[in-house]
Amino acid sequence: MNKNIYMDNAATTPMKKEVLDAMIPYYTEKFGNPSSIYAQGREAKKALDESRDKVAKILGATDKEIFFTSGGSESDNWAIKGACYANKNKGNHIITTKIEHHAVLHACEYLERNGFDVTYLDVDEYGMINIDDLKNAITDKTILITIMFANNEVGTIQPIKEIGKIAKDNDILFHTDAVQAVGNIRIDVEELNIDLLSLSAHKFYGPKGIGALYIKKGTKVHPYIHGGAQERNKRAGTENVASVVGLKKALELAYENLDEHNNKLKRLRDKLINDITNNISHTKLNGHPEKRLPGNVNISMKYIEGESLLLSLDMVNIAASSGSACTSGSLDPSHVLLAMGLSHGVAHGSLRLSLGDFNTEEEVDYVVENLIEIVARLRKMSPLFENIKEEE
Ligand SMILES: *Cc1c(COP(=O)(O)O)cnc(C)c1O
Repeated sequence: MNKNIYMDNAATTPMKKEVLDAMIPYYTEKFGNPSSIYAQGREAKKALDESRDKVAKILGATDKEIFFTSGGSESDNWAIKGACYANKNKGNHIITTKIEHHAVLHACEYLERNGFDVTYLDVDEYGMINIDDLKNAITDKTILITIMFANNEVGTIQPIKEIGKIAKDNDILFHTDAVQAVGNIRIDVEELNIDLLSLSAHKFYGPKGIGALYIKKGTKVHPYIHGGAQERNKRAGTENVASVVGLKKALELAYENLDEHNNKLKRLRDKLINDITNNISHTKLNGHPEKRLPGNVNISMKYIEGESLLLSLDMVNIAASSGSACTSGSLDPSHVLLAMGLSHGVAHGSLRLSLGDFNTEEEVDYVVENLIEIVARLRKMSPLFENIKEEE
C-alpha cells in the first residue's frame, strides 16, 4: 500500500468534496458582503441566514442562538470569558476538569490571573468525571461549569445530561466544548440543558477556521470582538460566508449519515483495538471501554517512546498522534493521560489512532501489521524492555 494512511481525524479531517463544491460559488460569483443592500449582498445574506437556520435546527436551537466564530478555540474562549465577565456580579467561581482542551484550560487560567477561582475536577482511570465531585464543588459563587462533551485524546464521553441538570438546578451556566462530539453524537441543546456549546467545522469534514458558539436565549455573555454589528453585535467582522456555507453543508452531511458513519467507525475501531491488544504484549487501552467516540483508539505501548513510534509510522506513510504535546515542541506527557493516573513513561508511549469516514478495513490491517513490526523493533532497542523480559 503506497498511499498515505490518515488516522489522525481527531486533529483535523479532510474536507468532503460536496462541502467544497457548496463553498466555491461564495468565493466567486456570489462574493458579496452580507451587510450590503444590493443583490450580491442580499445573496450572501440569504446564504448566511439559511446556514444559521440549518445549524440551529440540527442542534435543537433557534437561529438567534447560533453565532459563527473562527473555530473551536474562539468559541471556547468566548463562551468562558464572555460568560464570566458578564456574570461577575453573581460570583467568581468556575468549575471545569483536568482533561479539557487547552482552549478551555488556558482560558480558565487566564481568568484565574484576573480574579476568578477555578476548580479543576479529577477524572477516574477511564477519563470520566465523578458527579458527586461536581456537586460538592459547587459554591454560592459558582457562575459557570465548563465540561467537554467528549475528549479529543481518549474519546471518553461525559454524562452531559446529568451535568446539565445539576447546572440548571443550581442556576449555574453550563458550557460544553462539543468539538469532538458534533458529527459523532446526536445533540439536542434543549434536552441536555446546555447554555453554551462550542463546535468546529474542520473536525467533521468541513473547512478549517470556522466554528460556531450556541448561546441559549437570555444567557448573558459579553461580545467577543468589538466593531461592526455582525452576529447581532457580539462578534464583529465581515462574515466568512463561504466557510459558513461549508460548515452548514458538512454538518448536514454528518447528521444525514450519522448511523452509517458510527457503525462503520465503531467496527473499524473495535477491530483496531482487538488486533493491536491481541497481537502486541504490554498494551493498555486508554479511555472508557464503552462510553467513547466511535473513531477513537488510544493505546499505551509500554516501554516505547511515542515520538519514535510516530516517526516509524510516518516512514510507512501512517499519520497518527501520540500522548505527548509534540505540537509545542515539548515532550511533556499529555495532561489528559496524567490526570487518568498513567505514569509519565506509560503516557509517553501512547498512540492515538482516530478513524474517519475515509478509512478502510484494508488500512486497519496495514496499520496493525506495521505496528507489530515497529513495536517489536523499538522494544528490541529498549534497555527497559530487556529488564522486563528477564523479570518475567
Ligand atoms: C480541535 C479542538 C478544539 C479547537 O478547535 P479549533 O477549531 O481547531 O480551534 C477545541 N476543543 C476540542 C475538544 C478539540 O478537539
